Amino acid sequence: MDHFANTGGELHAEQVPLAAIAREVGTPVYVYSRATLSRHAKVFREALSALPKVHIAFAVKSNPNLAVLRLLAKEGYGADVVSEGEMNRALAAGMKPEDIVFSGVGKTRAELIAALRAGIGQFNLESEEEGVELSEIAVDFGARAVCTLRVNPDVDARTHAKISTGKAENKFGVAYDRAADIYVRLSALPGLDMRGLAVHIGSQISDLEPSRQAFIKMGALMTALREKGQSVTHMDLGGGLGVPYKADDVLPTPADYGRMVSDVAQDWGVTLMFEPGRVITGNSGVLVTEVVRVKQGTDKPWIVVDAAMNDLARPAMYDAWHDFAAVKPSGESMIANIVGPICESSDTFAMARDIDAVKAGDLAIFRTAGAYGATMANTYNSRPLVPEVMVDGDRWAIVANRIEPAAILAAEQVPDWLD
Ligand SMILES: *Cc1c(COP(=O)(O)O)cnc(C)c1O
Repeated sequence: MDHFANTGGELHAEQVPLAAIAREVGTPVYVYSRATLSRHAKVFREALSALPKVHIAFAVKSNPNLAVLRLLAKEGYGADVVSEGEMNRALAAGMKPEDIVFSGVGKTRAELIAALRAGIGQFNLESEEEGVELSEIAVDFGARAVCTLRVNPDVDARTHAKISTGKAENKFGVAYDRAADIYVRLSALPGLDMRGLAVHIGSQISDLEPSRQAFIKMGALMTALREKGQSVTHMDLGGGLGVPYKADDVLPTPADYGRMVSDVAQDWGVTLMFEPGRVITGNSGVLVTEVVRVKQGTDKPWIVVDAAMNDLARPAMYDAWHDFAAVKPSGESMIANIVGPICESSDTFAMARDIDAVKAGDLAIFRTAGAYGATMANTYNSRPLVPEVMVDGDRWAIVANRIEPAAILAAEQVPDWLD
């Protein structure tokens, strides 16, 4: 559930009319609901309450806004980061280094050093090669890096191919059949403290069965390692739980997920770690846009909005669906194509969609834009970088400024030898 509802004929974020934010900040603009974010954080935690020891590391890549991270830090969340930049955001938001997990298939030497210096709680190693390099660095530091080994369980998450990460053909983790030998070799290295395994099979998971299969395989691997005399105290089960993008989508709830995890992992005798992203932030944000004009089409009208694929990439990248709604619906509806102004045909949010009737100058929202929304924004077509707002009851604040094309232009220069 979320806190974006129509009261008195117009859409609000909590108690703030979206039109008021659009008037002051301009459009497009992302708007997040503090109440929704807090609620999701609590619901996810409660869903795991039957498990003995749990650590939740929010997947920063889904929404790295500093205010969002601060809110989640206050909810007791740590962070799952995939770059030095994300690590520094989590630290700036007040997360403790020991609550931060460093994931990512291509951590550079500089990033490994920075994370060791910062005292990051856990490295999720993606390869034996990475472990060997990290061990050398840690020995130079006179430290031991706390690690898990990410395993590719070769299960199909049954999600969009571009967000599937746990099949053998995906680049992530080490092959399941080789994992035990690699783990044994890594744990013999002087700079590493191997404490367990990690898995993450994909995102927007709408069927729990593949995750269950993956976790069962991870449990078997854990047992095999213990039989070889290895210590396994932590198991990181990743993130990936999906969210409803359409009003009538039915997805497994965090409670369903928690029960499934309990069934599989209740008796593992480890600290279970989770890296939720989308399920926390997805429905906590909307993208507010203004209709630039309605252009007649040969078949359906084209609704040209001032948001584009550079602001919200998911439809262009993953054919993703975002519900569209007028901020002040007239009660009429229409069938139309919704597109942005960018000079690419992929800058299309919806085709032949049954939507609230809108006309030039009307405000509208794309729902469920809190995850993988602003974080993927760019300035393609020399457009501004989209701003972000957070609402709390009847108050609101800008939590990321619009970055104007002039600021980006100012970072460019023409070499003398061109003149
Ligand atoms: C992206 C990612 C997540 C979060 O995925 P969601 O689908 O947003 O929950 C968690 N762990 C890792 C390693 C990831 O790459």
